[in-house]
Amino acid sequence: MTFPIDDTHDPALTSWVDSANDPATDFPIQNLPFGRFRRAGEARLRIGVAIGDQIVDLEHAGLAATDDMNAFMRAGPAARQALRRTLSRHLRADSAERSRFVASLVPMASAEMGLPCRIGDYTDFYTSIHHATSVGRQFRPDNPLLPNYKWVPIGYHGRASSIGVSAETIRRPVGQAKPPDADAPTFGPSRRLDYELELALFVALPNAQGEPVPIDRAEEHLFGLALFNDWTARDIQAWEYQPLGPFLSKNFASTVSPWVVTMEALAPFRAPFAHPEADPPPLPYLDSPANRASGAIDVALEAWLQTAAMRAAGRPPQRLMQSNFRDSYWTAAQLVAHHTVNGCNLQPGDLLGSGTQSGPAPGQGGSMLELSVGGRAPLQLADGEQRSFLEDGDTVILRGHCERPGFRRIGFGDCAGTIAPARFA
Ligand code: MN
Repeated sequence: MTFPIDDTHDPALTSWVDSANDPATDFPIQNLPFGRFRRAGEARLRIGVAIGDQIVDLEHAGLAATDDMNAFMRAGPAARQALRRTLSRHLRADSAERSRFVASLVPMASAEMGLPCRIGDYTDFYTSIHHATSVGRQFRPDNPLLPNYKWVPIGYHGRASSIGVSAETIRRPVGQAKPPDADAPTFGPSRRLDYELELALFVALPNAQGEPVPIDRAEEHLFGLALFNDWTARDIQAWEYQPLGPFLSKNFASTVSPWVVTMEALAPFRAPFAHPEADPPPLPYLDSPANRASGAIDVALEAWLQTAAMRAAGRPPQRLMQSNFRDSYWTAAQLVAHHTVNGCNLQPGDLLGSGTQSGPAPGQGGSMLELSVGGRAPLQLADGEQRSFLEDGDTVILRGHCERPGFRRIGFGDCAGTIAPARFA
C-alpha cells in the first residue's frame, strides 16, 4: 500500500499551539506522532499526540475510546488516518475547536513519557551494509561480508523486557570477555560499552501464524518509526557471539524514543529503492514495483555525546556522526515480508530494530566500534577528551528528522541514555 499525501502534509498549515510553528520544533502540525504519557502523580499511561511542546490527551479530547496503544495499533491504517485528519483539523490555526480542545493539552515539561506500547517481541535486523562491512572487517578481516548478506535480511530475536524509554540510566553490564592474547576469559565490568544508532519499526496489524505477509501488504502491518539505541558490550559480544549470535552483550538494555512517527507522517519522505547494479536482485518475495518505486524512507539520523565533564562545564552535547535510513540495504516492507515468510506471526506492538545505521562515508559509523576503529583510533572530542568506547557519566542522544523541499521538516525527538557505573564488587 502507499500512504496518502493529503492536506495534513500541507507545509503552509500552522497551529494555534504557537510552539508547533517554531521552525526548529520536531513536532509541527504535519507530524502528529503518538506516544504514552502520564501527569505527575498518575499511575496510568494514556495515549497522547505531540504538538510543539504540548501533548494532546486523546482520551480527554474525546478522540480515543481506549488508553491501550496496542489496541489502537491493531485498529490499522484506516483508523489511524481518520484520527490524523481529525487532529489536524482541530489543531489548525483557524480551528473553531480551539477553545474546547485547549483543555486537553498537557505541557511536555510536566509529563513523564512511557514506552509507546507494550512490546511483546523484539527482533533486531542488520540492514546497513556499510555497518555490516566495517564491523565484519574488524571481526573477520579476510571475510568481512558473509555470503548470505545480499540475499537474506539478517536478524536475530532480541529481548523485549529490557527495552526502556528515552532519558533512562543504563547500568554498565558485567560479564565475560576474553582479550585476543589471553588464554582464558576475565570477568568484570564491560570496558567496551557502545551505542548503536537504529530505528525502531512498530508493528500495527497482526498476521495469523502460518500466513505470510506479502511484500505489497507489508506496510499495512506497520504503525510507524521511532529512534532506537541497541546498547552493546563489544567485549562480551566478541567472546559470546559464535555460534548463536548476540546474547548478554545486548539484552541488558535498549532505549527507544517516546514518540512514534506514523507511516502517514512519513509519506512525503519516501524514496526509490534499489540494490547496486552488481549485486543480486532480491528474491521475488522481497521484490515489488512499489518497493522499488518508494520502499526507502529518507530519515536523517545523528548521534550526539555529552560527557560528564561537558555537562559539569555547561557545554552542550557534541555530534559524533550522521547517516540516513535511505542507505539501508533492505526496506521496511522487506523486513516484514521476510520476518513472516516462514509463517511467523507478528503482533501489534512488536518492535523491529533496523540494525545500526552507518553511512557509506568514513566518519558515518553508527557505533563507537566503527568511529574509533575498534578502539585503535580514539575520537578526539572538542573539549580535549578522548573516547574509544563509552565512559561512566556519558549521555548518548540519538536524533532523527525528515526534510524535503515543498514539505515541512518533521523530527523524532530525542532518544537519550546515560551510563551509570557497573555494580561489581
Ligand atoms: Mn543492533
